[in-house]
Amino acid sequence: ATPTALMVGTGRGAQLGILIKGPEVLEQTRRANVVVLDKTGTVTTGRMTVQQFTSDETLRLAGAAESGSEHPIAKAIVAAAGEVPPATEFASTPGVGVTATVGGHRIEVRRAATAAAGTTVDVVCDGETVGSIVVADEPRPTSAEAVARLKGLGLRPVLLTGDNRSVATSIATAVGIEDVVAEVLPADKVDVVRRLQSEGDVVAMVGDGVNDAAALAQADLGIAMGTGSDVAIEASDLTLVRDDLLVAVDAIRLSRRTLGIIR
Ligand code: ADP
Ligand code: MG
Repeated sequence: ATPTALMVGTGRGAQLGILIKGPEVLEQTRRANVVVLDKTGTVTTGRMTVQQFTSDETLRLAGAAESGSEHPIAKAIVAAAGEVPPATEFASTPGVGVTATVGGHRIEVRRAATAAAGTTVDVVCDGETVGSIVVADEPRPTSAEAVARLKGLGLRPVLLTGDNRSVATSIATAVGIEDVVAEVLPADKVDVVRRLQSEGDVVAMVGDGVNDAAALAQADLGIAMGTGSDVAIEASDLTLVRDDLLVAVDAIRLSRRTLGIIR
């Protein structure tokens, strides 16, 4: 690989809205045969809204407890709750939920205990479940098209999420992904990437969250969404300036063209 040709590639990358960490990244981009896609905030917008809730009181307590969290579920609940009582002693467990003290009660908002159709969290007061809240977001407008093009380039897409199987499958179906790995704890996302690599796959991964950082670093090619968390961007080789999976497709096509010239 000549440095000049690679510089052309990276310069064109900037025009397309792709920030590339170094010229060597293009080679990894070219070799990838599997692309692991995080669900929330990557395939979908990550802008969740509350769809259903048991009662105003449930929403109020949950809003208070979630006011210390930046999770998309927390943002949805806080926005829907409006004015909430003050909360203290915030704690969160990645991939599970949050707890806080509200009006002398220990409030938990956490992954629903029973299988649910939507992304559902239980609201628990002093150990007793008092209600539940359903949230949802939708695929980004270009995700289905991007998945089709990735397949056209010979990459196998895999959807990876901590969310439940039912939601994961319906989003996957909507954008044309057949392989779904759901209900994966944040710490276990990296193992999914490792497993694919041990099967001989060269893995590209696209993600946005704090939860995705280790998996993005482990992937042969880590791609971060531009509005992703700082740790996700730092862990990645490429950053998509626009939050659009079609730009990831451009990156792969660019690397193939660039390296095609110099081989
Ligand atoms: P994703 O892979 O979609 O980014 P996470 O791993 O962050 O999902 O979360 C997985 C699940 O854990 C959520 O679907 C939800 O049930 C629960 N959860 C995570 N964070 C929160 C939170 N702040 N409040 C309530 N539930 C949460
Ligand atoms: Mg995400």
